[in-house]
Amino acid sequence: MTDDFGPFSAAARREHWDALPGRVFDLLVIGGGITGAAAARDAAGRGLSVALVDAGDFGGGTSSRSSRLIHGGLRYLETYGFSLVFEASAERRRLLALAPHLVHPLPFVFPVYQGGPTPFLMLQAGMWLYDALSLFRNIRRHRVLSRDDVRREEPRLRTGGLAGAALYYDASVDDARLTLANARGAHESGARVVSHAEVVGFLDEGGMAGARVRDRVSGAEAEVRARVVVNATGAWSDAVRRLADPSAKPRLRTTKGVHVLVERDRIGNRNAITVQSPIDGRVMFVLPWGDFSYVGTTDTDYHGSPADVRPDAADVDYLLKSANSVFPEAKLTAADVVSTWAGVRPLLAPAQGGAKESATSREHEIWWDRSGLLSIAGGKLTTYRVMAEQLVDRAADRLLTRHKVESGISPTEDLPLPGAPDGPWTEFAARIVADADAVGVGGEVGRHLSRAYGDDADALLAAIRADRALGERIVPAQPYVWAEVPHAVNREMAMSLDDLLIRRLHLFYEARDGGLSVARAVAERMAAEPGIGWDAAEIERQVERYRVLVEETRGFGDAARAGGAA
Ligand SMILES: Cc1cc2nc3c(=O)[nH]c(=O)nc-3n(C[C@H](O)[C@H](O)[C@H](O)COP(=O)(O)OP(=O)(O)OC[C@H]3O[C@@H](n4cnc5c(N)ncnc54)[C@H](O)[C@@H]3O)c2cc1C
Repeated sequence: MTDDFGPFSAAARREHWDALPGRVFDLLVIGGGITGAAAARDAAGRGLSVALVDAGDFGGGTSSRSSRLIHGGLRYLETYGFSLVFEASAERRRLLALAPHLVHPLPFVFPVYQGGPTPFLMLQAGMWLYDALSLFRNIRRHRVLSRDDVRREEPRLRTGGLAGAALYYDASVDDARLTLANARGAHESGARVVSHAEVVGFLDEGGMAGARVRDRVSGAEAEVRARVVVNATGAWSDAVRRLADPSAKPRLRTTKGVHVLVERDRIGNRNAITVQSPIDGRVMFVLPWGDFSYVGTTDTDYHGSPADVRPDAADVDYLLKSANSVFPEAKLTAADVVSTWAGVRPLLAPAQGGAKESATSREHEIWWDRSGLLSIAGGKLTTYRVMAEQLVDRAADRLLTRHKVESGISPTEDLPLPGAPDGPWTEFAARIVADADAVGVGGEVGRHLSRAYGDDADALLAAIRADRALGERIVPAQPYVWAEVPHAVNREMAMSLDDLLIRRLHLFYEARDGGLSVARAVAERMAAEPGIGWDAAEIERQVERYRVLVEETRGFGDAARAGGAA
């Protein structure tokens, strides 16, 4: 079944909301992170009738706060997670082909130092195994680097005490946009997709029959009936299970992970760098992101609400000290930090307990709760597609046996994600850069548009051609242009100022002031779009809410800023 719901817009969200009550869906998916969004896309692509709701924006939970890597997971070799590495490597290969605008090859340099936690011989063996587990079909095979090679590749990396280094490959991703592409793909395959719609209770009609959902935009409530209800709420999944069954035993071990973003020339890395922290030997990364680099991540037990997770001064200090240990000339201090983000991993609690946070398994599990909810937890952004496929397989079995509802096989293995251009990526990207130059916005804007929007970049350039003012930059230092604001509302279902400035554009992270200086102008521009309709008081509320979000992620301690991290 493929309904034509028109563009994935704020106005379409209203139509989807209105269509939720009054029918029985095959599947109601709760949670529009990567797992739920992909499950909704998968199920709708099999011909099932599907509703997807998220309490906030798509990807507003953990799925926009990751290390932005599509990776085999070199680190999991330490804990013998061979099957996870095998599966993740296959997904990396697939995603590079299915979403070439969002997933890009990324070379990593992994230096090991004398006296460090990993002997050089072990690194070499690990590298060989990493390539083998991708069936030697990774982007390229790894290479061992001599000290001179390291000096050439990474002139600012510490070479004193260097035992050896390797160059290997994984991939980078815009995590928020990968999630958005899946939500949009669900909509385009016929699912009813509603953001800012929170499940506040369940319908028990002699078994799980659906959920009560509150529209956080209008305050209205609706009953949504479904034959199978899927709980894909990540770090919230125990709380949602308890909403259906207050005696449900917790299944999660949630851990917090923090990143800090600095200007790239402060560190001077050319590649991604794999770092073993001198503080506790943990593997972490210094990762390039345009003109920036970010350092992450931490991994510490977290017991609060996932919505309240924030970086603190100790997190920032740990990350900066670890980066300084391999880039000693950088001498990063908290004053260098442009922005931070923190996320909560929805890991499965180990049966025996006690393992270190970073040694807790990243495998996923899918199970039927006593309440009748189908729940999923654990896993990774990288393996989301297989997780979604397995989740929908379980739902489809139940739909067939109990409800005689038939469905097709998962279409996602070779179905490109929305935005993926036809033809080779490099040719497409070069054409968009040339077109952007011809329109007068310049190659940097063209490069950004091609990578953020894929083949929608053509529509943005056409809008700029028709109205030159739309090609002006929102802030001078970043390649975001005004055409993206109406596009985000009318093609990407941005409903709030933070949906727009954090997850559609990334000004929240990349502008020194988090985009506060332009927040009101952006909100006023959004207000005029169909499906938004804010009055002056609502504009005020949006700007204020956004200001608080910016301050919370930059307010990790004036003490840390003053003290530095030498
Ligand atoms: C710091 C960090 C770094 C990571 N780095 C990587 C990496 O580089 N590569 C990788 O592969 N993986 C990485 N991961 C793991 C990966 O990000 C997560 O496994 C994945 O994003 C989890 O997605 P999810 O959909 O399960 O959860 P989420 O993205 O959190 O989605 C759950 C959604 O459920 C919604 N929800 C909650 N309650 C309700 C309700 N009552 N009603 C409706 N909706 C509700 C929330 O709003 C939320 O959007 C990282 C994780 C962390 C924390």
